[in-house]
Amino acid sequence: MRDRLGREIDYLRVSVTDRCNLRCLYCLPPEGVRPKDHEEILRYEEIVHLVKVAAGLGIRRVRLTGGEPLVRAGLTQLVAELAAIPGLSDLSLTTNGTLLAPLAEELKRAGLKRVNISLDTLRPERFRAITRCGTFSDAWAGIEAALAAGLHPVKINTVAMAGVNDDELADLAELTRRFPLHVRFIEVMPLGADLGRSEARVLPMATARAAVEKVGRLEPAWVTGGGPARAWRFPGAPGTVGFIGALTESFCKRCNRLRLTADGKLKPCLASDVEVDVKRLLRRGASADELKEALRRALELKPARHHLENYAKHARVMCQIGG
Ligand code: SAM
Repeated sequence: MRDRLGREIDYLRVSVTDRCNLRCLYCLPPEGVRPKDHEEILRYEEIVHLVKVAAGLGIRRVRLTGGEPLVRAGLTQLVAELAAIPGLSDLSLTTNGTLLAPLAEELKRAGLKRVNISLDTLRPERFRAITRCGTFSDAWAGIEAALAAGLHPVKINTVAMAGVNDDELADLAELTRRFPLHVRFIEVMPLGADLGRSEARVLPMATARAAVEKVGRLEPAWVTGGGPARAWRFPGAPGTVGFIGALTESFCKRCNRLRLTADGKLKPCLASDVEVDVKRLLRRGASADELKEALRRALELKPARHHLENYAKHARVMCQIGG
């Protein structure tokens, strides 16, 4: 599928829940946000039906996200059903990792190919402070389990925040010398709670890269997934390092994705409040052609670029969009 600017759109990010077991400073307010009622959330069979239609239009890669996707019961079953859809070549999961350890092997067996795990610090007290309630050892156990289960490549998403974890970026990058982990630093985007809305917390990726290069030269590398982060590696390292500068180095020209929120709205752009309601269509038994039409409409509405730099208030926080 091509959008009106000629961008090839073959990637769908599917949020399976707006609930999360953590309360990260940049994502959610301390009290959380009121979760949607169960009947407002797409059922698994509705997700599978829509993804089948999308695959028929050229969607080749699907990523499950949330909220925290692993808080939703029965995720392995959803993975198995999505993995069986003809035409999909990649099925991945974004998770905070804290609930992953006991599930990694069964998810792999069900057809999950790879995982991205969010980890902003290697210090247990800081982990608790950033997530407001999480335990570092649970997240680390999730990372180890993902590696052991062969959910390769295992990518680590680190939101780099000035004055919060900017003294640890080199340590996080050093993980790539010891493990086949692909650490990607991400600029904090104004799409979350207070910290996410604070310009003062944005750490430009050029600064993050300079901090990492203090501990070693980086050479170009390649890693499966084709996301917005170009990959680099310390010579000889099994893992790679990437820098996602959503604010300072917009990659909208290369954007290849659509999003489906947990409550059944197609979002053409992470940073826009424009949505196309597919839940209404799914629940009134719309035909595959009507669903295709909705997917095409979402493509038509895809903006040329985001305007995150305006720090405008958005209708949803990250957890409700599906980051
Ligand atoms: N719970 C899962 C997780 O933690 O990976 C999936 C959902 S979470 C919203 C997806 C990603 O969005 C995480 O890597 C998280 O760090 C990132 N994220 C959330 N709020 C953000 C913000 N304001 N700026 C940049 N990244 C953000």
